[in-house]
Amino acid sequence: MARYVFCFMNGEAEAAPDRALLGGKGAGLAEMTAAGLPVPPGFTITTEACRAYYREQNNLPAGLWDEALVALKRLEAAAERGFGDSANPLLVSVRSGAPVSMPGMLDTILNLGLNAQTVQGLAAQTGDERFAWDAYRRFVQMFGRIVMGVEGSKFEALIERRKKATGVVNDTDLTAGDWRSLTGEFRLLIEEHSGRPFPENPLEQLNLAIRAVFASWHGRRAIDYRRVHAIPDELGTAVSVLAMVFGNRGADSGTGVCFTRDPVTGARHLYGEYLQNAQGEDIVAGTRTPKKIDAMADELPELHAQLVKTCALLERHYRDLQDIEFTVERSKLWILQTRSGKRTGAAAVRAAVEMVREGLIDEKTAVMRVEPGHLVQLLHPTLDLHAPAELLATGLPASPGAAVGKVVFSPDEAEALAAKGEKVILVRVETSPDDFHGMVAAQAILTARGGLTSHAAVVARGMGKCCVTGCESLHIDYFSEEFAAGGRIIRKGDWITVDGSTGRVLQGALPLIEPKPDESLAVFMKWVDNFRRLRVLANADTPADATAARRHGAQGIGLCRTEHMFFGEGRIEAMQAMILAPGPAEREVALAALEPLQYDDFLGLFRAMDGFPVVIRTLDPPLHEFLPHSKAEVAVLAKRMKVAAKALEWQIGALREANPMLGHRGCRLGITHPEITRMQARAIFRAACAADREGVKVKPKVMIPLVSDVRELDHQAAVVRAAAEEVFAGEGRKMAWEIGTMIELPRAALTADEIAKTAEFFSFGTNDLTQTAFGLSRDDAGRFLPGYVEGKLFSADPFSTLDTRGVGRLLETAVTLGRRTRAGIEVGICGEHGGDPASVAFCHRIGLDYVSCSPFRVPIARLAAAQAALSTAE
Ligand code: ADP
Ligand code: MG
Ligand code: MG
Repeated sequence: MARYVFCFMNGEAEAAPDRALLGGKGAGLAEMTAAGLPVPPGFTITTEACRAYYREQNNLPAGLWDEALVALKRLEAAAERGFGDSANPLLVSVRSGAPVSMPGMLDTILNLGLNAQTVQGLAAQTGDERFAWDAYRRFVQMFGRIVMGVEGSKFEALIERRKKATGVVNDTDLTAGDWRSLTGEFRLLIEEHSGRPFPENPLEQLNLAIRAVFASWHGRRAIDYRRVHAIPDELGTAVSVLAMVFGNRGADSGTGVCFTRDPVTGARHLYGEYLQNAQGEDIVAGTRTPKKIDAMADELPELHAQLVKTCALLERHYRDLQDIEFTVERSKLWILQTRSGKRTGAAAVRAAVEMVREGLIDEKTAVMRVEPGHLVQLLHPTLDLHAPAELLATGLPASPGAAVGKVVFSPDEAEALAAKGEKVILVRVETSPDDFHGMVAAQAILTARGGLTSHAAVVARGMGKCCVTGCESLHIDYFSEEFAAGGRIIRKGDWITVDGSTGRVLQGALPLIEPKPDESLAVFMKWVDNFRRLRVLANADTPADATAARRHGAQGIGLCRTEHMFFGEGRIEAMQAMILAPGPAEREVALAALEPLQYDDFLGLFRAMDGFPVVIRTLDPPLHEFLPHSKAEVAVLAKRMKVAAKALEWQIGALREANPMLGHRGCRLGITHPEITRMQARAIFRAACAADREGVKVKPKVMIPLVSDVRELDHQAAVVRAAAEEVFAGEGRKMAWEIGTMIELPRAALTADEIAKTAEFFSFGTNDLTQTAFGLSRDDAGRFLPGYVEGKLFSADPFSTLDTRGVGRLLETAVTLGRRTRAGIEVGICGEHGGDPASVAFCHRIGLDYVSCSPFRVPIARLAAAQAALSTAE
């Protein structure tokens, strides 16, 4: 039978540090124990036990409890205390620990083993009655909330009432007697609420606590967190039970959290916070604002030195930035947890680059370690410092980037407004893990209390979301939904701007500016580019887009959507005149007006892409997209065109289609109106010749959309070729160019061998291909697709992550068939998926030549391509 329980104590660990089995926390505790670090003795119940618990309808699997009892005996021996022993009581923490870090999302219970007898023993043994009753009430409070299901605020209310009655301000001023009475009140509250007495028997406490930790795996915040971070629901959590150590035993005790490098910038120095005379919970909860770890060097120099040494050891051992929990009990240092630290994108890149220089890791490891999402953050906007701004308050810069939004105070409201497309900033006194869904929905999080390692700070950094914490001059009133700061009252719905890089909170919606990455990013991206095989191009429609794309490292334009050139002042009018032209002669006139506009844009693109290919797609969307629809708008247009409004309405009505996405669009337009394709081709080749004349290296590629049959492509190719020859003859110069097609219909993928006879390149339009493969319009998918994903019917939204099993198979088929006809045919992808890391990995695997994505996602695609190459090479 499988073993469920493994001990770590006396410098030995019974199990190898397997994160999948012991959870991250359990594996870390085992590994640190074996490495001789000061870890309290304990044991870990495996994730397999958790999965078995769920399989057996929330029952502990057979054998588990007996194993736990044996381990407990050994723990008693190692700690030299007895569980439930009223003279020398052993207290334990019962801690959750998933295979992947989910900070604060699962439950942990501290001080377990206390009851009416053992609390007396603890008081006698420590000679500190106040400490003992404080520990007891903390336990009853936590147990009541987590195991017995009493709302946390009910306990807080009782504490507040007591403080008022006795006239004290801080919890620390309450006496042993206060805590004793409060413990009694807590126990009554629990009994009233749950109908069960508070369990006195420590073994019963332990049994219930283990179940509760297992149950927290399916708590709301854990589920929400897993969804956002794509963590599988099947993993389950381990449970680590270890002897308690106390940071709240006076001035020579304390607790803290530290990072081996700065998790905000990546700089190499110990970064963290500690609180004197406090338990670990106090830091995470953000109820007291802690001191910087540097201050510890003055206050407790020997311990600080020991901490520095231990942290260095841990970082060398794990070869990664560590996030370490420690507690000092009467001058003795204990390490309670170590894990790979959550970090910002800037810190991820800088730490990776510097660790390579320090010889800690190699370049491959560095490239594999930075997540594509980290780069997203590096591209975050910042505040324009020159814009006039009214400062409301300054807090701690907990997670960088700047954000603008309307103030909301409740996470539910944040979620609801964000769902409507509103930008909101969640303002809280402090956050708890229950606020997670609101934090996800918000542009930024602002809290009045808590430090740089408070819940809000850690969670926001993990998501790459702007966050300011510990903004103590903020006076928040949840009841009237407003806060006072900087002599002003800001109400719900008012706009504010939050700068997570400086901690500043400003009034109004201020302009943001695009980020400028630092030196280590350039080094890092060079490594990235050395490892990848896929080329990365950008989807860019304007010269400005093209310039941004080059800046982000794009190796060309994979998709220029010419229709985007038709919007805007002076352009849409010419387009409308072209569409509504009564006959071919009038249409030629309108087209002649459009041609110079296209010419200028193409010339700009060619100049920006000097030496790199530019793929230009001919007109794609249904024509009615360019026309007005409301009566009033039609009337305005009619007046301008000097026609009767009624007649125009009728004409526009006739262009309306039942299902435009499957209607008269793509190459079908160019076939019924070859003059449109001809005009576009002429503009392309004239611009190419002009650029060539300037000495720019031009590589034009003309791409025909929505082809389902090779004969459609043949038709359009003939029009384009004729235009090319005409322009080249007129200009007296020529250059190499290519004609190709989008593969975005299933029939095209299935007949790619025929299409490749004409097409010199393929580009997968996976947005349309996904729509047509699923028979599902993207605009209507919102009604049910999110439910599919939530209900696990689909593992991901196929419009964000390529459906490799279905749509992907069409891609593979087209690649195989296309190359059968034309061996070296160049194949890429230009759908939204080109910037999605999982989809990029698939493109690498099936042997595409390039991916093309929005300019902003180019660095992400480059990294994803390198990671795909490195992980398939192994
Ligand atoms: P989380 O995963 O939410 O951080 P933990 O299991 O790490 O939960 O525990 C919560 C807090 O309690 C942490 O600050 C931790 O350091 C502290 N803690 C856990 N076990 C002990 C213990 N045996 N003695 C003292 N403090 C502990
Ligand atoms: Mg922890
Ligand atoms: Mg398309």
